[in-house]
Amino acid sequence: MKFSGQNLLVTGGSRGIGAEIAKEVAKYGVKVWINYRKSAQEAEKVKKEIEEAGGKGAIIQFDVSNPQEFVEGIKTILDVDGRLDYLVNNAGITRDKLAIRMGIEEFEEVIRANLTSTFVGCREALKIMSRQRFGAVVNVSSVVGERGNMGQVNYSASKGGIIAMTKSFALEGAPRGVRFNCVTPGFIETDMTSTLPEKVKNELLKNIPLKRLGSPREVAEGVAFLLSDSASYITGETLKINGGMYM
Ligand code: NAP
Repeated sequence: MKFSGQNLLVTGGSRGIGAEIAKEVAKYGVKVWINYRKSAQEAEKVKKEIEEAGGKGAIIQFDVSNPQEFVEGIKTILDVDGRLDYLVNNAGITRDKLAIRMGIEEFEEVIRANLTSTFVGCREALKIMSRQRFGAVVNVSSVVGERGNMGQVNYSASKGGIIAMTKSFALEGAPRGVRFNCVTPGFIETDMTSTLPEKVKNELLKNIPLKRLGSPREVAEGVAFLLSDSASYITGETLKINGGMYM
């Protein structure tokens, strides 16, 4: 795969899927900015791994739930590199609870962290990439945004919103050479899913035709493809990476 762009910002790049995306894209000579909120040590570790493999990494701390911090973070990258070629809106949280017990705050916290943050990232990227007449964004949604899930009305609303919003951004970006796509991972082995009880995991496996959870690497490779020149005619697309659990 070839990457004509020079740098990438991955939100939530310190752990799980985001860390794998950072390491995967860095292999192709792209400088990767690793964003984190709290996990400074983990972000350092990702940067070190990238550098040991001969790549270029940098770290940028901000909370994507805070629009001002997010905008400032992107400004810092522009000050240093003079451009932003790729963005992956990956940072995300869950606050699971049955709908009848869910308060407005628990609903809105997830919307702010997952959906509003993705809007802010896409908006800033569109401004910068339009001027460059080049750029690509990948938003990390979820299979839950496509088919819903018990206990996740907040999370599924945020992830479904990302899919629809990505298509609208794709329409606004296309005349300026800026592509927007998203991925919808199924159940992937990360900290986010590590707390699932064994019984729930076994139930899940029954509905996954490939009969296993996915790895962060398998998501990262799909994201890298969508960012790369190999996907230069793909925009507004939703790439399912879910072992066949939803087709
Ligand atoms: P994870 O292991 O919990 O890691 C989440 C990452 O996001 C961490 O690097 C975390 O950094 C960062 N983060 C969270 N809130 C943040 C904030 N407000 N500002 C900046 N960074 C923040 O999660 P994951 O499983 O890799 O999930 C990554 C993405 O994939 C999420 O959007 C998730 O919804 C999506 N996804 C995951 C699965 C799955 O099965 N794991 C399936 C479908 C979709 P700190 O530690 O510094 O807070």
